[in-house]
Amino acid sequence: SLRIETLSKSFDGGASVLREVSLTVHDGEFLALLGPSGSGKTTLLNSIAGLLTPDSGRLLLDGEDITHIPAGQRRFGMVFQSYALFRHMNVAQNVEFGLRVLKGNARPSKAGRRARVAALLDLIEMSDLGDRYPAQLSGGQQQRVAMARALAIDPRLLLLDEPFSALDAQVRQSLRSSVRDLQRKVGVAAILVTHDQTEAFAIADRVAIMNDGVIEQIGSPDELRQNPGSPFVRRFLEAGA
Ligand code: ATP
Repeated sequence: SLRIETLSKSFDGGASVLREVSLTVHDGEFLALLGPSGSGKTTLLNSIAGLLTPDSGRLLLDGEDITHIPAGQRRFGMVFQSYALFRHMNVAQNVEFGLRVLKGNARPSKAGRRARVAALLDLIEMSDLGDRYPAQLSGGQQQRVAMARALAIDPRLLLLDEPFSALDAQVRQSLRSSVRDLQRKVGVAAILVTHDQTEAFAIADRVAIMNDGVIEQIGSPDELRQNPGSPFVRRFLEAGA
């Protein structure tokens, strides 16, 4: 499990964007971070990823303090908008690129990498599309390749930042369930940042509702719907945004 302990972050001496956030993500769980724009969702995810250094607080992964482990050594799978597929690499090469972050003994041989890529393409049901380039794929297919690339390293945690937002509604819905299926099959815990309530409630085991740098409430979709814990949560859920 991932334990986030009293994490705080501000930028350039400004107001705190995260204020002593504590949260546990259980093994195999799918957790959504939901909240209005500017509430700190992406800052929290980037802090978990190691792309930002928190001002204070700790991150414990299965009891190990990873707060100061560099992002590239955390073995986290990331599907972020800013990590788009490489246009000049085909699908198989993009997926294989995910393996390059592995160092030393952890890095499979060429044959091992090829087998791993084949297994991942099979997992995303794109076995016959390994030679295609990103420009020759639909948006939904591109996102599945991004998932395969993130899963290539057998990640300890999967981090997703608005992975569906560029896609139209219908594609988004089918991709949601395929991401959820992939996550279940692999058995990795996942954290999804979204401002889309429908999406969060459809995909997540638990939803953490953020407001102004704190987690206002965390619970299953049913718990939140039946028992909103604060006026903010009630209003936010009623607005349905
Ligand atoms: P959105 O849904 O719009 O992405 P969010 O909930 O993910 O919002 P963050 O992106 O975490 O919110 O931003 C939280 C606050 O921190 C915002 O007020 C933002 O302007 C500020 N912020 C984020 N990154 C930086 C940065 N690098 N430098 C300065 N301020 C930042």
